[in-house]
Amino acid sequence: MDIEKLARKDVQRLTPYLSARKLGGQGEIWLNANESPFDNLYSVCGAGLNRYSECQPASLILAYAHYAHVQKEKVLTSRGADESIDLLIRTFCEPGHDHILFCPPTYGMYEVSANVAGVACKKVPLTQQWQLDLPNIEKNLQDVKLVFICNPNNPTGNRIKEEDIKTLLEMTHDKALVVIDEAYIDFCPEASFSACLPHYPNLVILRTLSKAFALAGLRCGFTLADPKIIALMLNIIAPYPVPSPVIDIACQALSKEGIFRMKEQVNLINTQRNLLESALSKLPGFKVFNGSANFILFKCPRPEALFSTLWDNGIILRKSSIEGCIRISVGLYDECEKTLQLMCDKGISPSNLLRSHP
Ligand SMILES: *Cc1c(COP(=O)(O)O)cnc(C)c1O
Repeated sequence: MDIEKLARKDVQRLTPYLSARKLGGQGEIWLNANESPFDNLYSVCGAGLNRYSECQPASLILAYAHYAHVQKEKVLTSRGADESIDLLIRTFCEPGHDHILFCPPTYGMYEVSANVAGVACKKVPLTQQWQLDLPNIEKNLQDVKLVFICNPNNPTGNRIKEEDIKTLLEMTHDKALVVIDEAYIDFCPEASFSACLPHYPNLVILRTLSKAFALAGLRCGFTLADPKIIALMLNIIAPYPVPSPVIDIACQALSKEGIFRMKEQVNLINTQRNLLESALSKLPGFKVFNGSANFILFKCPRPEALFSTLWDNGIILRKSSIEGCIRISVGLYDECEKTLQLMCDKGISPSNLLRSHP
C-alpha cells in the first residue's frame, strides 16, 4: 500500500519549515538564527518528574505577568511563541473559509502554521519603507480573522509605526484580531503594545524567552491578550504543554536577578549591533538597514559569494528571502570582529572596522 496516499492531501504537498538549524553548516560562529550568544547557566531539580506538570503553572504565569506589567488573567504560556501562532490559527480560523493576513517580508511561521491548518493566507506586502500598507490591508479584510504584525519585524529589523498599528487595531476592531509578534521587543521595550491591552479587546501580543532571555532551546513563550481570548486558546491547548524542568528554568530567568542579567545583556547586544551596523555600512557597496533587534539585515554586491566564503570558514549567516540581502545575528564582540576580519581578508573591506569605532 502507498502510505503517502493515506495522509491528508494538503499535508502530502507540504514541505517542512526550513529553519536555520536544519540548514546545517559546520560552524564555530553561529550568527544565523538570532539566538543570544550568552550561555547562562541554570540549575534544574530532577525530582518530581513522575508527576504531570501543571497546564498553566501559576508561578510561571505570575512571573511573566509581573515582568510584562499585565494582569495574570491575560497571560498564556506555550511551547515557544511558535506554538501560540499555531494555537491562534486553530482557535480562530475555520479551515477552507477564514484567512489570516500578514505583510511580507516577515516571519515565515504564520504561513507555515496556516498551511498546516488548511487556512488560506492573504499577503499585503509592506511598503518600500517596510511599513504597513493600510489602504491595501483594509481592502483585503474580507474573511480575515487574524492579522499578524511582527514588531520589530523579522527579517528587516525595523519597527512598525505605532500610529499605524493603532489605526489597524481600530480598523479591525469588530472583524479580526491583530496579533503583534513581539519576539524582539525586549531589545526596545519602549515599543511594546502591552500597555494598550486594556484599550483594544482585539489585540494579541506574542512574547518569547528565545531571544533576549537567551533561552531558545528551552521552548517557552507567552501570549498576552484579553482573558476571553486566553480562555478560547485553552480550549485546544495540549493538556501538558510546558515540561516541569522548563517551568523551573523559566522562573529562574524571570526572577529579579534573571531579568537584571537579561537587561545587561540586551544593553551589550544593542551597543554591539550599533557598532556592527556602522562597520558594515562602511564596506564598499553595502547598504545596511538599521534595526531595533539583535540582528542586522544588509544588502551587498555578491551575497552568494560572501555567504559561502564565510560558511566555508565556519561563520554561518542567513541568506534572506529579500533580493541581495543577508541577515546577521549580533554575536559577541570577538565573533563580530572575526566576521569583519574575514570579509577584509577576502578583499571585501578595510581591516579592523569594529575597533576603529570605540
Ligand atoms: C524567533 C521568533 C519566534 C519564535 O519564538 P519561539 O518562542 O522560539 O517559538 C516568533 N516570532 C518571531 C518573529 C521570531 O523571530
